[in-house]
Amino acid sequence: MDLDGRVLAEAVAELVRIPSVNPLHTGPRAEEHGPVGEGAIARHLADRFDRCGAAEVVLDEVRPDRPNVYGRFPGRSDRLVVLDVHTDTVAVEHMTDPPFDGRIEHDAVWGRGALDTKATMGVVLALLAAMHRDGRRPDPTLLLVGSIGEEAGGLLGATRFAPWARQQGLRIDQLLVAEPTGFRPVHGLKGLVLIEVTTHGVAAHSARPDLGVNAIDAMVPVLAAFAAAHERLSATPGRTELGGGTLSVTQITGGSGSNVIPDRCSITVGRRIVPGEDPVDVLAELTAIARAACPVPCDVVSLLPRTPDGRPASPAFYQRPDSGLVQFLARTCGTRPTVAPFGANALRYSGLAEELVVFGPGSIEDAHQATERIDIPDLRRLADVLTSWLSPG
Ligand SMILES: [Zn+2]
Repeated sequence: MDLDGRVLAEAVAELVRIPSVNPLHTGPRAEEHGPVGEGAIARHLADRFDRCGAAEVVLDEVRPDRPNVYGRFPGRSDRLVVLDVHTDTVAVEHMTDPPFDGRIEHDAVWGRGALDTKATMGVVLALLAAMHRDGRRPDPTLLLVGSIGEEAGGLLGATRFAPWARQQGLRIDQLLVAEPTGFRPVHGLKGLVLIEVTTHGVAAHSARPDLGVNAIDAMVPVLAAFAAAHERLSATPGRTELGGGTLSVTQITGGSGSNVIPDRCSITVGRRIVPGEDPVDVLAELTAIARAACPVPCDVVSLLPRTPDGRPASPAFYQRPDSGLVQFLARTCGTRPTVAPFGANALRYSGLAEELVVFGPGSIEDAHQATERIDIPDLRRLADVLTSWLSPG
């Protein structure tokens, strides 16, 4: 189908003009434009799905006024494909551009979310609208998912959609998760176990350290133990293109005054996990490392919301690069399959579909910046790819 670049750009701009900043990324500038969150865009999408000929539209309230939205577009075959596009965006406080004007200039659509990741939703809606107008159907049945809460807060929307799809007994052939991947099919992502370790000491006047127990000093051997664990991981090659696991201490806090022996010290530790590693075992291992090294009582807590099956994190996502969908996307786009270091909804979708790939126009390196845009030639190219995916031949 040859959709005009202008039509595609307008379809994306329309979505950019509906602010949908993740509530954890709120701020005065986001709030200036009304209530923060994904409620308004979900309702808008439900209406658009309806007008594009969806046989069924579901608003699935994940948190108050933060619904996922699902639209089922019946196909001509019994295949079922899912396109998952997160509806939330990152913050706009640091933007040097108007965040929500969705202006179209210099052959691009500008504004927060244009790239990450309203481009894909806009293009697929333009395609579905054109098909509906011409009385045509996609080949596979398409379940189009607008999911909340991808950018922060532990992938809430995906965490809800996965059990919903299982409850419906859906047998999904292919699941495409939209993210800016530069048209490269991403077939693997590392998982993340995130913990906070807190050492407990006894406060005292710093002139009498002998009367206290220094919680910061107690953290030193814990830090050394985690550094040693990272060294061990670095020496272990990964079994896939994702490489090996890594461990990083990313935050440290402690102490209440310059003349007080600190009674608490906390660190945040992120452990990137790879295929074959179980988040439950990884959490147990991190806890054991901290406890063995720490000379005082310490707590270890997992910082991410549990997955629907009660795990502290999702395992890594990995799909073989020779699978049909990966190869189809690489061939159609003239790109090479790859793996990626960032997280995405795909981490919640392991085992949900026969094939699972993260894919979309634009580069992740351009996302979350002070300006954001998607180039119209990229929208045209995406329209071609999605057309071949949904209406081959
Ligand atoms: Zn994204």
